[in-house]
Amino acid sequence: MPYKPTIGLEIHAELKTNSKMFCSCKNDPDEKRPNFNICPVCTAQPGSLPVANEQAVKNVIKTGLALNCEIAKTSKFDRKNYFYPDLPKGYQISQYDMPLCEKGHLEIDGRKIRITRIHLEEDTGRLAHPDGADYSLVDLNRAGIPLMELVTEPDITSGKEARKFAEELQLILRYLGVSDADMEKGQMRVEVNISVSKDKKFGTKVEIKNLNSFRVVERAVDFEIKRQTEALEAGEKIVQETRGWHDKKEITFSQREKEEAHDYRYFPEPDLPALHFDDSFINSIKSELPELPGNKRIRFEDQFGLDKSTVEFFVLNKDLSEFFEKVVSEFEEWIKEQDFKKDISKQEEQKIFKLVSNYLTSDVQGLLQGLSFREPGTGWKITPENFAEFIKMIYKGEISSKVAKMVLSDMFNTGADPSSIVDSNNLRQVSDDSQLEGIIKEIIEKNPKPADDYKAGKQNALQFLAGQVMAKTRGTAKPDKVQELLKKALQ
Ligand code: ADP
Ligand code: ZN
Ligand code: MG
Repeated sequence: MPYKPTIGLEIHAELKTNSKMFCSCKNDPDEKRPNFNICPVCTAQPGSLPVANEQAVKNVIKTGLALNCEIAKTSKFDRKNYFYPDLPKGYQISQYDMPLCEKGHLEIDGRKIRITRIHLEEDTGRLAHPDGADYSLVDLNRAGIPLMELVTEPDITSGKEARKFAEELQLILRYLGVSDADMEKGQMRVEVNISVSKDKKFGTKVEIKNLNSFRVVERAVDFEIKRQTEALEAGEKIVQETRGWHDKKEITFSQREKEEAHDYRYFPEPDLPALHFDDSFINSIKSELPELPGNKRIRFEDQFGLDKSTVEFFVLNKDLSEFFEKVVSEFEEWIKEQDFKKDISKQEEQKIFKLVSNYLTSDVQGLLQGLSFREPGTGWKITPENFAEFIKMIYKGEISSKVAKMVLSDMFNTGADPSSIVDSNNLRQVSDDSQLEGIIKEIIEKNPKPADDYKAGKQNALQFLAGQVMAKTRGTAKPDKVQELLKKALQ
């Protein structure tokens, strides 16, 4: 019988607030000057007192609501005591037995992963160990930055699922605007607990820390499952310990034996009052919840008939999906204004949505990636109205797909509206038969030899003439129409 893996996650995320957790210092994760955002409170000077940051509390409750948690009516802070040079107080203010949120869940590919708790605490400072120096440096800019910790039940069964959970959580935190949750910047940190067992009883778990990317989360879990399985097969015992991940060797290695809760001598923080929340406070946070990725996946598939990978693109690219919806609502206006067939069928409607999404996920995304610098709301100048206008022209066959690409990049760079770009450059597709027939006549007269060749049976000659017609219309004619009318004229 094979060994079954059991995995639980502990995920920390730095919260996006103006000030730190217990003082008014700026919460700026990008501050490069060491010990710049510090004060007596976050450097633990004698006599200083903490005051809880309301926004941080709200951010955690918001996250709890988004993850189907029960929100505590009463919560409190506790001291977690340990000594380390990046922790000036000698204890971390955290939450022990009365966390803000408990008993939630997050669905990953149809499987519910239960969330044990989400609590609020403060981050530690950072240590630097200069090369070759016989001392270390302490930077307390990060000390006291509000930190959320989420703990899952041991419901996860593979490295891939652990990775997906962490990715989905990151997405949700970003949708909620409570954290930037950037793994590379250390704003989100994932620790994994892993055990394997042959029967219903869980095996001894090992914790892996310092996993700095989603890929590494998956790799480390899979490595550890294999290591533990092989150890047990060889008759060895698994020791409960904390292991690290060796980036180059891609292995886990033992760091230290795990401490127990009693080692931390948790006790209630005497300098902070307990927190009490009434229904109206919780409800007001609830009312601020945006649409979440899970719901958006279902809605984008149902409402717009988009395929799964396009939907996922929009779920991951929030600004483009918001743009998509604005464009769609422009079309709804258009339909109402009868500028468009009133009895538009669902199919026609979905054809338009597909056009809009195709141009956004390929061409626009390509143009955006070409920008070296991109701030939300800057860099691209296309308005939803103009984009809808642009799609309308393609839909109505007024411009060819080749011309569309040119028009789009012009719109992207200048913000001009598509009809003026098309008109001022004379790019409208020649769909009018008589106009095209005129051009064809002219080309045949100018090229008597190929015309005769075609009549004598040389098919290549037709391609030559068609090319001349396309050139004359600067690519604005429909190729199949050109072929059709050309043959007719030559007959
Ligand atoms: P500890 O007291 O050692 O901190 P917890 O019970 O608080 O352990 O669990 C910490 C994390 O480890 C949680 O995410 C939990 O789901 C996970 N976990 C607990 N037991 C196991 C196990 N046997 N195998 C894998 N993960 C586990
Ligand atoms: Zn401070
Ligand atoms: Mg624990």
